[in-house]
Amino acid sequence: MISLRLYKSFKNAAVPFSLDVDYEIGGEHKNVVLFGPSGSGKSLTMQCLAGLVRPDSGHIRLGGRTLYDGGSNVFVPAQRRKIGYMFQDYALFPHLTLLQNVAYSGTGLWPWRVCSTQQQRAQSVLERFGIGHLARSLPSQLSGGQRQRAALARALNAEPELLLLDEPFSALDPLLRERLREELLELIAGLTIPAVIITHDPGDVDAFAGSLILYDHGHARMVPNYADLRRDFDSPGCCLRHLQEQGHG
Ligand code: ADP
Ligand code: MG
Repeated sequence: MISLRLYKSFKNAAVPFSLDVDYEIGGEHKNVVLFGPSGSGKSLTMQCLAGLVRPDSGHIRLGGRTLYDGGSNVFVPAQRRKIGYMFQDYALFPHLTLLQNVAYSGTGLWPWRVCSTQQQRAQSVLERFGIGHLARSLPSQLSGGQRQRAALARALNAEPELLLLDEPFSALDPLLRERLREELLELIAGLTIPAVIITHDPGDVDAFAGSLILYDHGHARMVPNYADLRRDFDSPGCCLRHLQEQGHG
């Protein structure tokens, strides 16, 4: 169960923006899809959830733990939140091998300080994702699909309680995207922990079939299911229609 009330404002930025969301996720679905157009606040929500951005007010609760209480008392730092984060562009360290990238997330240590047990653990995570043989490769030497797996392995190495996937397919070309969507779905289905997935592709919403949170201009609301989202599509000003008109759909 995630209970989230966030307010974060960038009013002095070149393009002012406010995020103001309030919802609870959990219950019948293991996974959650955050869906909405670019710039609507999806990544910012994830960054707040992971502890990378501090909200101005609100609260964040994950399971029985309070990660942020809106005041100055509770703000659990990112490395103690037990949240795995797969970034939009994967953000693998380009100068580190896959093994070093993965080991870093479990330890927060640079390669020269990682002990052999930690290395073995990172190696076994790579094996689990079928890229053990690439442990000594650099991210630039990998294909798109291999990089996606490496980013997922890194997100899971620290044994998180929640997995965040920020547009896991945005770095892939359309053909690869279809295949890797299936693959990633299988990998996620095999996990015991819940996943929150960001997308602005209606096809992903269909495929992941979790609870659905619709984002629009810094606001979010729950949509019971994909059929309701399609129904919404007929209402004027719907952001899904806006996306299709822009050629994303
Ligand atoms: P998306 O839904 O595409 O993931 P984001 O959450 O990345 O959208 O961004 C939402 C808005 O927040 C954007 O307009 C972005 O410019 C703004 N934003 C995010 N981080 C900052 C920041 N550090 N300073 C100013 N504006 C920011
Ligand atoms: Mg984003």
